[in-house]
Amino acid sequence: MAAKQEIDTAALNASIDLVELVGRYAPLQKDGKDYKGLCLFHTEKSPSMTVSPEKGFLHCFGCGAHHDAIGFFMAVENLDFKAATAKLLNGSGTGSGYVVPQRTTKLKRPPPRKTFAPPADNAKPDMHIKALGDPVAVWMYRTAEGGPLGYVARYDDDGKKTIRCWTFGQHSDQDPPAWECGHFATPRPLYNLDRIAANTTAKILLVEGEKTADAAQQLFPSLIASTWPGGAMAIDRVDWTLLKGRKVVLMPDADEPGRQAMDRIAAYLHENGAVEVKGVDTETQPDGSLSPEGWDLADAVGWTPEQAIKWAVERASVYPPPESKPETPPAA
Ligand code: ZN
Repeated sequence: MAAKQEIDTAALNASIDLVELVGRYAPLQKDGKDYKGLCLFHTEKSPSMTVSPEKGFLHCFGCGAHHDAIGFFMAVENLDFKAATAKLLNGSGTGSGYVVPQRTTKLKRPPPRKTFAPPADNAKPDMHIKALGDPVAVWMYRTAEGGPLGYVARYDDDGKKTIRCWTFGQHSDQDPPAWECGHFATPRPLYNLDRIAANTTAKILLVEGEKTADAAQQLFPSLIASTWPGGAMAIDRVDWTLLKGRKVVLMPDADEPGRQAMDRIAAYLHENGAVEVKGVDTETQPDGSLSPEGWDLADAVGWTPEQAIKWAVERASVYPPPESKPETPPAA
């Protein structure tokens, strides 16, 4: 630790061209003022790692990896602070930059960022993102007690819908807690968790996406509409024990990925003690016509709650627990 105090880390970080350094390990593409590439700290197929030369750090929206130049070099080369800074300093100031040896060691994954409820006087972050602007829609996730826990924000990226989470937390105990554009730590919460906790006998109506959950709540006022952050790719990261002892109705988006997502959730719910799991077949509309591909309750414009309830009841059936004998689905 003595070595750490002898080194001016701010000056050393500032002397390093972060894009050039990270670029030695991962191909980077310019993305506005930042650069994007496949993350070096988790396996992925589409780039979540953003290198911001202006801010002087890289951040991965997938795994939460977050480093300045020195931290990146330590993590990517699996070096301690002393060894990393010695290597970086030996090469600095020579005009040709530092010499980074070929990677020989295994990558060391940083511990995941912890997330938790923010203090009352810091309940909401500034959700402006340079490359995306301000969000066009924001949904609050709450603690069971009703306070803010984090936000899911939708941005319009040149006509393309882009979702980002904003959570409060820290990368290590030494790191001051702060808002950051990044996921909830796992296991992740459910939308409308405060209402779920406050009404322990109400049925839960689970849909995909916060916008759809809000629409579902309007059409099914006696149920508690809920969803989970991160969409179909993040089902295995959710704390499904939150629905232990509950009756749950699953309403998939009207397409194959939507149905598969709910099938997987049904299995998780059974595993985690839900007392009843039903699914609604969303393949057809009230008039019997086929639902448009990907249709969901946010598209049910002009429906009344009476219509919606009749439609759902006619199309509901029980998801039998995996170990139970098949039986004829009871009328809903
Ligand atoms: Zn990552």
